[in-house]
Amino acid sequence: MNESQHPSSSEQADVLVVGAGPAGLALAVALAQAGLRSTVLEQASAASLAAPAEDGRDIALTHRARRILEQLGIWQQLPADEIAPLRRAHVSNGVSPLVLPFDAQGDGHEALGWLVPNFRLREAAYAVAAATPEVKIVCGARVTGLSRLGTVATLQVADGPALQAPLVVAADSRFSTLRRMAGIGARMLDFGRTAIVCRVSHELDHQGIALECFRYGNTLAVLPMAGRTASAVITLPSDQAGDWLATDEADFAQRVQAQLDQRLGAMQLAGPRHSYPLVGVYAHRFAAHRFALVGDAAVGMHPVTAHGYNFGLYSVQVLARELAKARQAGLDLGALPALQTYEAEHRRNTLPIYLGTNGIVQLFTDDRAPARLLRGAVLRVAKRLPPLRQAISRQLTGATLQRRS
Ligand SMILES: Cc1cc2nc3c(=O)[nH]c(=O)nc-3n(C[C@H](O)[C@H](O)[C@H](O)COP(=O)(O)OP(=O)(O)OC[C@H]3O[C@@H](n4cnc5c(N)ncnc54)[C@H](O)[C@@H]3O)c2cc1C
Repeated sequence: MNESQHPSSSEQADVLVVGAGPAGLALAVALAQAGLRSTVLEQASAASLAAPAEDGRDIALTHRARRILEQLGIWQQLPADEIAPLRRAHVSNGVSPLVLPFDAQGDGHEALGWLVPNFRLREAAYAVAAATPEVKIVCGARVTGLSRLGTVATLQVADGPALQAPLVVAADSRFSTLRRMAGIGARMLDFGRTAIVCRVSHELDHQGIALECFRYGNTLAVLPMAGRTASAVITLPSDQAGDWLATDEADFAQRVQAQLDQRLGAMQLAGPRHSYPLVGVYAHRFAAHRFALVGDAAVGMHPVTAHGYNFGLYSVQVLARELAKARQAGLDLGALPALQTYEAEHRRNTLPIYLGTNGIVQLFTDDRAPARLLRGAVLRVAKRLPPLRQAISRQLTGATLQRRS
């Protein structure tokens, strides 16, 4: 445990946050802005949080997510030359030449959103949280137990003293152990598929267009990053992932290039390949007595609609707002009413998209003949319905949710 950042007993936190991922750290900063002190417990080392390793994930952020990051001061810490605007998205299906275009013009925006490397987001969130006086980050601290009795919640930490506060918030990933300790179940959907992500460089300008190709056999997303580079995301049945990971760099780049019909010209691999098994997770509840869930611990999305961390930031914004109201009203932070308001709003914000995303994935990864027909029909209908595409674009920009919040 990193004792140098351990809170003294005289500085008891209002909230204990478990997990210093991008959601837990953003929450700690949001709570500080609401006048609440937090202690963040993280099993990893301080060095790995301060300078996170590149993990291949590039995160598409909505307009609402950007505004939240700006409000937290995290956006300003991101290297400007690593933020790439996502101007349009083109969706295609199977071997059909039909392309379903999405853009933000109808909504008055220049971009659907922005792409930022995940390790840069984590680095910026840590830098801001570590510099915030109301936030204590305790690294090398693996939480092993949770109890909630009377007016306090208590966390047991491996090789360290127990900590107490009126409220515990779990931000400890989609496979949250705290969620289980709190007796909260989750619906889980194991897609049996793996996403392989890596950076590629290419000959031709991508013009800020994301390409989402629902092919037969695998899905390929190519996301426009800074300069002539892109993030390639290949999603395929997990038993085929080993082949894509083992093949040499030139062959891998050649496969991606061929699947794009040379649209971006000659292509090279520009970074290591990383793989992620895909499991969607939706907690049965986001709140209980003296306990709440945020980030992936509440909702773990399939990456195809790029909502995971955006939802994490929405959860942070709403929970911090409700806790600030409770504090102003002199109420107990761990009592259920404030937490239930958070739960209801976050469920409204996320459940339809969680279910919709899973439905899209299941249909567009089904290569059987009837599904192929339905996939083509869905794209043709969507192409003929501009209002539907605008509604989806607004969803991508977060404009729909922005207006409500
Ligand atoms: C391939 C891929 C592409 C993605 N693309 C997008 C995208 O385009 N847009 C988007 O919005 N999202 C995207 N996401 C999702 C996004 O990466 C996640 O939503 C986000 O990283 C989750 O952050 P988190 O803080 O909730 O959890 P995590 O990043 O999982 O952090 C959890 C933290 O908790 C710590 N921890 C766990 N257990 C304990 C314990 N017992 N004690 C102490 N610490 C503990 C862990 O060490 C970790 O640091 C993508 C994900 C993947 C895999």
